[in-house]
Amino acid sequence: MKNITVIGAGTMGNGIAHVFAMNGYQVTIVDIAQAALDKALKTIGKNLDRMVTKERISAADKDATLANISTSTELATGVTKADLVVEAATENVDIKLKIFASMDEHAPASAILASNTSSISITKIAAATKRPAQVIGMHFMNPVPVMKLVEVIRGYATSDEVTTTIMELSKKIGKVPTEANDYPGFVANRVLLPMINEAMYALLEGVAGVQEIDTVMKLGMGHPMGPLQLADFIGLDVCLSILNVLHDGFGRPKYAPCPLLVNMVMAGKLGRKSGEGFYSYSHGTKELIVADSFK
Ligand code: NAD
Repeated sequence: MKNITVIGAGTMGNGIAHVFAMNGYQVTIVDIAQAALDKALKTIGKNLDRMVTKERISAADKDATLANISTSTELATGVTKADLVVEAATENVDIKLKIFASMDEHAPASAILASNTSSISITKIAAATKRPAQVIGMHFMNPVPVMKLVEVIRGYATSDEVTTTIMELSKKIGKVPTEANDYPGFVANRVLLPMINEAMYALLEGVAGVQEIDTVMKLGMGHPMGPLQLADFIGLDVCLSILNVLHDGFGRPKYAPCPLLVNMVMAGKLGRKSGEGFYSYSHGTKELIVADSFK
């Protein structure tokens, strides 16, 4: 493996490109929006600067990493030399099916096609290609340069050989891979989201307040963030869509999204990115302040 193409230059795409480039791979980032590519290069540069300041890498390492990255707005030309393509485009099934069909057409026949999807079936994505044995989930966590885990998801037809290659590659770039089969939410979101949902039910039913619930999970269970703070960080709209995938996929009432979450999303309270969720983020400090609605 030498050439890696990353499709999508957003939050995850730039992090994935950063990590591969820092480990000596030649990376091409493809996005339909030139602005997204420009922003990704800027973000990678800033994140590398921070690592230089913290003396985790040298200035020469930063330059070498940036020299390993090129960009393109054309998928067809961006994947022609790829040994591996990691798709990290918008979480939308139709978009992903089109991207995989096109990657299948233009990438070398030997290339492995991976998706960073949080919730869409790898088996379904693989069926859009003529090489389902070479399609696999490579679920990185946000922020990619910091978080160690890669959840490696085997679709129905993914071969043992491809799974082993991706497990080994994940280790080579400093990550810890875990293997999972292709069922809704895989492992990470299947376990995490019901906990977050239950925290919201506890709040809705008046068991305790926002700070109390988060404090119990932080100090009692050793979680670095409480579930409500984490929901704000992930984005409440994203939490809702993952719960809907679990609920639709399994048809079990335990995955039904908490009505408080549904209401907050409808009201545009999406967490950190919208300035308010369970906490308020408009005061411009790093202090955690409970949103007025929950005081
Ligand atoms: P994002 O919205 O930040 O970025 C998506 C990018 O994809 C955008 O720049 C967009 O222009 C681009 N794009 C859309 N259609 C495209 C196409 N046809 N070809 C090329 N580029 C295209 O999204 P994100 O948060 O980086 O999420 C990307 C993927 O990673 C999703 O599948 C998501 O479920 C998954 N994921 C996200 C997180 C997270 O915390 N954000 C964590 C794990 C996995």
